[in-house]
Amino acid sequence: MIYPIVKYGDPVLQKSAAAITSFDDELKRLVEDMFESMYAARGVGLAAPQIGISKRVAVIDVTFKEDPDAKLVLVNPEIVHKEGRQRGTEGCLSLPEFREEVTRAKTVTVRAQDIDGKFFERTGEELLARALLHETDHLNGRLYISHISALKRDLIKRKIKKLAKAGEW
Ligand SMILES: [Zn+2]
Repeated sequence: MIYPIVKYGDPVLQKSAAAITSFDDELKRLVEDMFESMYAARGVGLAAPQIGISKRVAVIDVTFKEDPDAKLVLVNPEIVHKEGRQRGTEGCLSLPEFREEVTRAKTVTVRAQDIDGKFFERTGEELLARALLHETDHLNGRLYISHISALKRDLIKRKIKKLAKAGEW
């Protein structure tokens, strides 16, 4: 099932999501639906709060369907190591049409559980490092615009307010 993507302004995006405690069929269905919703929205990462579900699950595929092995499911993820710096543009399905330069760590290690509850660690560089940080942030109620200057952030917020007023957000 394809869920609509929740946009900036919805409080679900700004709260810390709840830990997953049952690794059951419901979770498996949620993860499937999240991949489907992410691909439909042409994204490379999606966190459950972005479909209105405040749970600590995120899916990532930085190859966008090219490599099935690149599909990554993160349940209850924690960033355990960050190294180096990279600058690059970043966007978010919950902030469509906006993109900003964001400085992030270049190499990132996440510790998470898989769909069966098994713990694993995964280290990513470049785009994957960025995705690991971006999606884990979502589960803590943070959006990438919290990493840009207040001036740029206010500009985006003002534009969104205008769009909302016109019924286009
Ligand atoms: Zn996002």
